[in-house]
Amino acid sequence: MSVINKEKFNEELFSNIKNLINKYKLIQDKDIIAIGLSGGKDSVLTLKALSDFKNESNFIEFDIIAISVDEGIKNYRMNGIKFTKKITKELGIELIIKSFKEEMGYEIDEIHQYFKSACIPCGVFRRNILNKTAYEIGADKIATGHNMDDEIQSYLMTFSRADILKFSKFKPLSDKIHPKLVPRIKPLWKTSEKNVGIWAVINEIPIHFDECPYSSLSLRGKTKTFLNQKESEYPKTKINIMNSFMKIFNIKSATAKVGDCKICGEPSSSNTCMACKTKEFIKKSKK
Ligand code: SF4
Ligand SMILES: [Zn+2]
Repeated sequence: MSVINKEKFNEELFSNIKNLINKYKLIQDKDIIAIGLSGGKDSVLTLKALSDFKNESNFIEFDIIAISVDEGIKNYRMNGIKFTKKITKELGIELIIKSFKEEMGYEIDEIHQYFKSACIPCGVFRRNILNKTAYEIGADKIATGHNMDDEIQSYLMTFSRADILKFSKFKPLSDKIHPKLVPRIKPLWKTSEKNVGIWAVINEIPIHFDECPYSSLSLRGKTKTFLNQKESEYPKTKINIMNSFMKIFNIKSATAKVGDCKICGEPSSSNTCMACKTKEFIKKSKK
C-alpha cells in the first residue's frame, strides 16, 4: 500500500474544490453563503474549503454563516453539534442551531416508526428548515456537503423512481426558481467520498464517524452499499455513471414549477409543501 503524502493530498483536494467553485461560479462577490453543517466529514470539509477560499480570494468578498439542524436522534446528532460549535469558533464563523422539535414539533426518534424509512421525514424537514433559515438571514446560496458519491446515489434513486423533474437538481449550482427558494451549491460535487474520508483521517480531524442508526434501512443506504460493491468489482463504475449522466441529461429546471404552500407559505411544487404533508401524516398516524 502506498503512503499518502499529506501536504500533496491536501493541496490537490483543496485545489480541485476551488477549481470547481471558480469553473461553475458558485460564489459571487458580496454573497452570503449559508452552509448546512452537520459536523460530519463532508460538511466540515466544505466549511474548511469555503473558509480557505474566502481568506485567499483577492477578487471576491463573501460571508459564511453555518446552520446546524438537530433532528432529534439520540446518541448521534449531539456529537456532531458539539463539533460544529468547536469548528465554527476556531474559524470565526457564526453558527445558528435549529431543531426539528422546535421547528416542526417532532423529533425523528418519536416519529420514525410511521414511515418506511426515517430518512423520508428527516430529509423533508431538514430541507425545509435549512431553506427557511437561510432565507430569513438573507443568504444568497446554501452550500451543502454533498459529495460525488451522494450525487451518484441520488441519480440512481431518481432514475428508479422515474422522477424526471428532479434531474435538474443534479448540478453544482441550482437555479433560482422561486423568490423564497435559496439556490444550492455543492462544492464537493466532484470530490469522492473516499477522498473526503482520507482527508479527515490524515489530518486527524476530530469529527464523529458514527453512522446514523437509521441509515442502513434507507434506499440511499442500500444504493450506497450496491455502488460500493460494484466499484470494488469493477473500478471506475461510479465515475462512469457520473460521466454518463452529465453527457445524457441537460434538463432545464424551468420545467419544474414552484409556487407557495397554501398552509405555511413556503416554496412548494404542489398546493401543500412536503413538510406540511409530512406533519399531517404524522398527526393522523398518531391517532
Ligand atoms: S441517515 Fe436518514 S435519518 Fe439519519 S440523519 Fe440521515 S436522513 Fe436523517
Ligand atoms: Zn407548507
